[in-house]
Amino acid sequence: METPPGKEGLTILRRLIAYSEKVFQFSETVIAGVLDRRSLPRIPTALVVKSVVALFWARMGSLNALELTAHSRFFRDWFGESVCSADSIGRVNALMDAAGLRRGIHHIYDQLKRNKALPDHYGIGIAVLDGHESHASYLRHCSGCLERTIHIGKTDRIQYYHRQVTLMLLPAARPGGQPIPLLLDHEPQQPEEGEVATALRLLKRVIDSYPRAFDLVLADGLYATAPFFNFLLARGKHALVVLKNENRNLYQDAAALFASVPPQQGSFRSRKCLWWDFADLHSWPQVNAPVRVIRSLETHSVRRQLDGKDELKISDWIWVTTLPGQRLSTARAVAFGHQRWDIENHGFNELVNGWHADHIYKHDANAIECFLLIAFLACNIFHAFFTLNLKPQIRKGRTRVFWSRFMAAEIYEGIDPTISP
Ligand SMILES: [Zn+2]
Repeated sequence: METPPGKEGLTILRRLIAYSEKVFQFSETVIAGVLDRRSLPRIPTALVVKSVVALFWARMGSLNALELTAHSRFFRDWFGESVCSADSIGRVNALMDAAGLRRGIHHIYDQLKRNKALPDHYGIGIAVLDGHESHASYLRHCSGCLERTIHIGKTDRIQYYHRQVTLMLLPAARPGGQPIPLLLDHEPQQPEEGEVATALRLLKRVIDSYPRAFDLVLADGLYATAPFFNFLLARGKHALVVLKNENRNLYQDAAALFASVPPQQGSFRSRKCLWWDFADLHSWPQVNAPVRVIRSLETHSVRRQLDGKDELKISDWIWVTTLPGQRLSTARAVAFGHQRWDIENHGFNELVNGWHADHIYKHDANAIECFLLIAFLACNIFHAFFTLNLKPQIRKGRTRVFWSRFMAAEIYEGIDPTISP
């Protein structure tokens, strides 16, 4: 895509598109294979995918906001015509082939892997699982909706919502660089199904198509179940999850060891820690391997806003894993355990809140699945561009929200406001 003369400053979105074509062959490979089930399509599927990618890059938040920019010169320069109506974009997403979008995400992974942009952590690849809810409604529902009863005063109302389980790859940073978290896939939770069952369906598909992408899966306490651990063990993978006291025998045995064995000193970031690490525990016989329990009791000081004084805070973390100490030291296990919450703060939350990925753009199960996969595509390409292509002196001090506004400006700048929409 050419930069218009005199507009060299306002070209970040054009540069992002040029990058995605050069590094990922965005038009020819990533989205060329995405089809939909319309019998006589008038609008190419690729144009719909591109329009939705722009919606996420510029963080517009709704199809109506995108429709208002439909005649921007930016889109004519990019794909030779205006963006189609909000209705058409919703309808095409409802008929879109999610597998084609998943292949596109895989191609981005393959290219980044080939370019050595996704290193592992000293021989261990990490992925993190998380469940997320899409916007809830009392009025609209579809075949994929989950339901719950909400008590408001004396009346009960049925609320409809969607949930997905997402898998994100957490590579290490390249030397001197920033890590690029990569959203690999998500799976919609079905009615009458628990989150762990959804996650197992997701993991089966992801491990089949990315057999060597990761070795260790991080997840919250909900996943401390034998089926989850055994599923991973059977595929040569490991879990590291928070241990809660619902897991009674193991928890009680571990607690007795914490009380009787002195801890070792350690540190995580600026925190002073006391660590306990017990391997070869057999108090969870439903898991097909002995487990290892690690506890980190961490002290750090927090500056109080009220009076500016330092206050000591203590946090107590307990994790259970099947990965033995020869492969993962206590210090690294503690750092990995914390990564799950880093992602809560920086990864999934950025996607949901910053990118409006939890918004229901069209209330239809297939459309919800496809919009979220397109959000993953947009997010992965943006993070690769941001980290690998933008010069550090340009990035410095500027947030990702800043860049999204700058990209939106590039779209709005191509609109002639004197012409009626
Ligand atoms: Zn629904």
